[in-house]
Amino acid sequence: MDLKDHIRRVPDFPKPGILFYDISTLLAHPDAWQETVRQLEAGVAPHKPDVLAGIESRGFLVAAPLALRLNLGFVMLRKPGKLPGPTVRHSYALEYGEDAIEMQEDAVTPGQRVVVLDDLLATGGTMRAATDLLHEQGAEVPSAACLIELSFLQGRDKMNVPVHSLMSFA
Ligand code: 5GP
Repeated sequence: MDLKDHIRRVPDFPKPGILFYDISTLLAHPDAWQETVRQLEAGVAPHKPDVLAGIESRGFLVAAPLALRLNLGFVMLRKPGKLPGPTVRHSYALEYGEDAIEMQEDAVTPGQRVVVLDDLLATGGTMRAATDLLHEQGAEVPSAACLIELSFLQGRDKMNVPVHSLMSFA
């Protein structure tokens, strides 16, 4: 099964000139989605994570079924202001302006092995912010994984951990 056949490409979303890679069509197809999670497991399990971290919001869809499958806990990395209680934050630069990613202060303990998951790697800014935040908390990040990599944007080069992707679009 070619998982790429289940990704819909939507022109001019969310802005004119942007080609959006839509995973809704993959999620809607249970056989393809199960195969996706199986392939992710094969890529992630060898890194022996203690916990998985998913990036809001489509990263949650990727991390949650894998966490259940590997019998691991799952941590939410969220946009600022969404999580209750004491949180820690890492800010990062966007093309225009700045964004930040947050997690609860007690979500990981120093030395824990945390694998980061998202649906898609584009410029790598989001994924790198996630690994930076986890490193700042003393976690080990043996790897990160995503369903789709837009290799022409070279986001992988921005990363400081190995990245596993299931599909690459050039
Ligand atoms: P980056 O920070 O690597 O430039 O962007 C990656 C983040 O933006 C991911 O969290 C991803 O969900 C979102 N993203 C950017 N472009 C797309 C796209 O074409 N399709 C999907 N599904 N997500 C995208």
